[in-house]
Amino acid sequence: MELLQLGERTWYIPGRVNVGYYEENGQGYLIDSGLDDDQGRKILKLLGEERKVPLRAIVNTHSNADHVGANAFIQKRTDCEVWTTRIEGILTERTTLEPLLLWSAWPFKGIRGKFIEAKPSKVTFIDQPMAIGDPRLANEYPIRDTELTAVPLPGHYLDMIGVRTPDGVFFLADALFDPTVLEKYRFCVMLDVAGAHKTLDMIVNAKARWFVPCHAPVTQDVGELVRQNKEGLNWVTEAVDGALANADRPLTREEILSRIGVANKMEMDAAHLLLNLSCVAAHLTYLSELDRVEPLVQDCFLLWKRK
Ligand SMILES: [Zn+2]
Repeated sequence: MELLQLGERTWYIPGRVNVGYYEENGQGYLIDSGLDDDQGRKILKLLGEERKVPLRAIVNTHSNADHVGANAFIQKRTDCEVWTTRIEGILTERTTLEPLLLWSAWPFKGIRGKFIEAKPSKVTFIDQPMAIGDPRLANEYPIRDTELTAVPLPGHYLDMIGVRTPDGVFFLADALFDPTVLEKYRFCVMLDVAGAHKTLDMIVNAKARWFVPCHAPVTQDVGELVRQNKEGLNWVTEAVDGALANADRPLTREEILSRIGVANKMEMDAAHLLLNLSCVAAHLTYLSELDRVEPLVQDCFLLWKRK
């Protein structure tokens, strides 16, 4: 594990999740924390050796377990605060909601592993009350009394934010994935496809010295990565639409996923399957907003057909 400098006061720790680090007035701030206690221990050791500055807060971009899983350990050791948006904060404090969202009921054991359900941590909300309601309407806003700026990034999760530093680094959370990840998994965690397109359009026009996605290498030119991610999104939209086009009857979303998964030799466990199912659902909503598909209920099945 190493701390690499990107700006005068900004660093990052490359890994499965790229973790950001920033300093202001002799205090340190992490941007996301990582998956588990082990990661938290390693981060604190690294910061203790390299920077020796008290940690004031972890700024979480969103509440997925690979981003908030080390919060609990770091908070216990340093007494730092955890800052995030209201809705992501509720899931960070009540992490069972994460598998519950996937299953729409109290989750069974097979979907409660550490990749889905992190250890809970105590949160301080950073967004303004006016952002309550549709988080997609929110504009950029300052992160408490720091020079950091929160940038709403709709699409991937409920109210995910990016973080801009005053020295020109733009942390992009999970708005962008590495093309090898897109190619391998095809489906990413995705709740709002129209929102994701808007986010990608915003990022391609954004100015920054460095862009730091959590699951792709840092870059100074984000254009190609945005293009590849748009292509990945469109691939799923067309695969969902294509499954319906090639069927001789309306399909459930499980059947749509199964047809795409089998055709592309995808392997998944229960948690992964439910994540992919949620992604299919997001694309069905998107296609229905484009007036290309519609739902119907028949024999106690929720079915989808092309219009
Ligand atoms: Zn992630």
